[in-house]
Amino acid sequence: MGVITVLDPAVADQIAAGEVVERPASVVKELVENALDAGATHLVVDVVEGGVERLVVADDGCGMDKDDAVLCFSRHATSKLKSADDLHVLRSFGFRGEALAAIASVAKVVLTTRRAESDVGHAVTAVGGAIVSVHAAGAATGTRVDVKDLFFNVPARRKFLKTLRTEASHIEDVLLNVGLCRPDVAIRLTVDGKLRLDLPKELNVALDAPGRVDRVVRCLGAHLRPYLYPISGQTELLTLTGYVTAPVETRRDLAGIHLSVNGRPVADRNLVQAVRAAFRTLLEVGRQPIVALDIGVDPALVDINVHPRKAEVRFADPRRISGHLISLLSEFLLTTPWLNRPAQHTTLFRLRDHQAGLKKSADDVVTGDIVTGDAPPVADELRDAHRARISEALRRFQTPTAKTTTLTSSPSSLSAVTTSSPTSPTLPSMTSLPGRGGATSFSALRVVGQVGGTYLILEGPDGMVVIDQHAAHERVVFERLRARRHTQTQPSQPLLLPITIELSAHERTAVDDDAVRAELLAFGLDVEGFSPTAAIVRALPPGLDGKKAQTIVRDALAEVDGVGASTDNAALNDRVDAICARLACHAAVRAGDVMAPAAVRALLVDLDAIDLGAHCPHGRPVVRTLEYSELSEWFDR
Ligand code: ADP
Ligand code: MG
Repeated sequence: MGVITVLDPAVADQIAAGEVVERPASVVKELVENALDAGATHLVVDVVEGGVERLVVADDGCGMDKDDAVLCFSRHATSKLKSADDLHVLRSFGFRGEALAAIASVAKVVLTTRRAESDVGHAVTAVGGAIVSVHAAGAATGTRVDVKDLFFNVPARRKFLKTLRTEASHIEDVLLNVGLCRPDVAIRLTVDGKLRLDLPKELNVALDAPGRVDRVVRCLGAHLRPYLYPISGQTELLTLTGYVTAPVETRRDLAGIHLSVNGRPVADRNLVQAVRAAFRTLLEVGRQPIVALDIGVDPALVDINVHPRKAEVRFADPRRISGHLISLLSEFLLTTPWLNRPAQHTTLFRLRDHQAGLKKSADDVVTGDIVTGDAPPVADELRDAHRARISEALRRFQTPTAKTTTLTSSPSSLSAVTTSSPTSPTLPSMTSLPGRGGATSFSALRVVGQVGGTYLILEGPDGMVVIDQHAAHERVVFERLRARRHTQTQPSQPLLLPITIELSAHERTAVDDDAVRAELLAFGLDVEGFSPTAAIVRALPPGLDGKKAQTIVRDALAEVDGVGASTDNAALNDRVDAICARLACHAAVRAGDVMAPAAVRALLVDLDAIDLGAHCPHGRPVVRTLEYSELSEWFDR
């Protein structure tokens, strides 16, 4: 007897549902896309218990008549596609015709809908894929889909869900992404009765319209307001509109890259890579840009239905799209508009550029109060440097076979000597870690001085030791934080005056979570929710500068999310290391800071106490030795 049986349709629907409905946020995404396809300009989303218990999406779109309200629950039921030809020219959010069927197969759904021209609406109830009732009902024009008890009949899927707070924040992310690319639509979100998001409809959608900018700021975070730059550009293939933040504001993950294609949010890897490529040379290693960009393309050239959740898109010629996107972005970045803005931006840039390697003495570092008005003359120099780096990035992209080199490598006079020596194809071997120049300890070395405002030069019995002061200090602080975190002995230093910081909606939600707050405290960060968009910092780990509280807390939040929930020890250790690395980076002396002799001594003593061969926060070398024997070779001795 054969062993193959044809699956019961209900089971088949559940399997298909697994592809579409991964978590409550995927339900919201589908329902919101349907609402937008129906021409809605107001969206109201209510979430209870992470959306697992209940979620409601109501819109003021075109609504459905009775027959359609029933039919829309069948698989492959769609009003958006009549023939195979339509497949190639669709502008709407999707025409797979399986979302409602999929959602209904794993939940209890009540869909209430009314078309404007009809004076009565209809309510259709479906449970686990079967329609159980259809009746006339009073309703506003539009559609309201009420989804209860998600995965009630597939308990295995419930197990894969994260905490209710995490699920709710994924829903919020979906709406923030729609909010960014559809300013013409009002969006309201409540979570467990609390208003989480309230974006009014913007009538003027010009990129510099105050309302539109306000919305972007609300979606991305208020701290970004001074750093936002509108961008719009066009090539024969695509149009690009949206906002770019000056490269001083970055994230350690890709969550700041918000992209949409023809007004629908996508998480397309190729497009994300293109954005990163355009920014690469402007950012510190490991940092990612923050942008909200819409890419407009001829709908015939893009297929948004290749992916069950429509997260990815398929372009007719993805490489060309990426190339055009990089060109437009690079062209914009070449104008370095942030350098024309007064005060803090310039200052931040100058500091960053010290690290990136421009030769500037510490005296050049201006403070926020001094530089005002138009670009100071020094900006030209920086602009040229930026341009050179961006052009280089562009060139490398256009010749993808070219070997990539790190453009932000250190500019010490030593490496300048070595790399400009055309006769020796191999670099002189600089002994790397632990490299104490023949001395038994760092503190036994004679301090010669500081060069380039960045490197400490020391003398040992066998050679000259060069220490990257920032990398070394960072390493010391990292080890200390890490040890204290693991022994739960992290002291925190109360701030004289608590500091108020602005957070994105997502971050602000996280601060309300006791587990997250406890984890922050384990790192010495005492943070407490304040207003709906702000939090108060009461204490920081010793050595951290209160002025950086906002960045420190935001970086830590990005890392902490998930630490508590993780049961896997290795993963947990990785996160702890990542947080310590971020904090250490903020606490460490910068390249370009003048170090007093006493501070240098203290640093050497600290370096003696740690094992430089072990884990390193950024994998960067801290110290190198140039042996005298090599110096002798240089000079043919
Ligand atoms: P698809 O969106 O791929 O067509 P769905 O299962 O999501 O498939 O929806 C099926 C159909 O139900 C849609 O094509 C549309 O005609 C109708 N529909 C769904 N949601 C709405 C809504 N909010 N307003 C009006 N019509 C809707
Ligand atoms: Mg749909």
